[in-house]
Amino acid sequence: MGHVAILGVFVADTAFRAGRMPRMGETILGDSFALGPGGKGSNQAVAAGRAGAEVHFVGRIGRDTFGDMAMAVWRDAGVTPAVARVEEATGAAFIFLDAASGDNAIIVSPGAAGGISVADVEARADVIGGAAVFVTQLEQPMAPAMRALEIAREGGAATILNPAPAADLSDEMLALCDYVTPNETEAEALTGIAVTDLDGAWAAGNALLARGVAKAAILTLGAQGVLYHSADRSEHVAAFDAGPVVETTGAGDAFNGGFACALAEGRDPVEAARFACALAAISVTRPGAAASMPTRAEVDALLA
Ligand code: ADP
Repeated sequence: MGHVAILGVFVADTAFRAGRMPRMGETILGDSFALGPGGKGSNQAVAAGRAGAEVHFVGRIGRDTFGDMAMAVWRDAGVTPAVARVEEATGAAFIFLDAASGDNAIIVSPGAAGGISVADVEARADVIGGAAVFVTQLEQPMAPAMRALEIAREGGAATILNPAPAADLSDEMLALCDYVTPNETEAEALTGIAVTDLDGAWAAGNALLARGVAKAAILTLGAQGVLYHSADRSEHVAAFDAGPVVETTGAGDAFNGGFACALAEGRDPVEAARFACALAAISVTRPGAAASMPTRAEVDALLA
């Protein structure tokens, strides 16, 4: 079993819950505050690490308190950091939660991670090129993500792109991906096809293969599970019911971390998608993103 390499972003999530947003120049009292680890790449690394994979995380953090938080989170999840620690501050996300509606508004400032460069990626070519599975997302700049996909491909790793947050991408980049894992919104950004049901997912999956995705488009459909769509195989994997849904933040990250872990173990990709759905289903029954990732024993119990 080879290792999983993940290139991505860590930020500290700071969540404020209040009755309403303050107006400019105003100060109001909030109901609650929570501080926790975030960033899609880091959340995915925690998911894969807790699921039992050997994970190496490539990124950039500051030499500050939030950077120390990242190191502690990775240590607890068994993730090996392959990160540069730089003078710039570690990034953070300001999350406003509306106490009445449950809606949120977010400002993400990537800080140190916004400076992840092609040189950073090339400095970790051994970790990326030597992986069984490589995963990245779109929170860091595009050029290093592209370079890392090239290095992973040259080294023989299976490449997974989680195209989040939503953006359009070049065909050249999609062709470097064995698997792309968009949710409904991200699939529409890539294909122009509205994904509201399985038919839409099938059409978007076809469009992604036509744009050059090498093996399969795996469309994540929230409570509908996923559609695994390759040239010779299109299968709906239903979502699991692991109990009442508490918070779906990080469900996509749970799926990607679980899929990478199962693929690195040599599972068939549809079986890997099923493993990932089970992992994600447990994560949505708990609060938080990284904090909600289950252990391997919990995933195996749900699949048994
Ligand atoms: P994102 O968080 O990127 O929007 P999704 O909402 O599609 O991603 O969720 C990713 C995966 O998490 C889904 O494919 C599914 O397997 C699982 N999941 C999400 N919501 C639920 C739910 N309510 N019940 C069970 N599983 C869920």
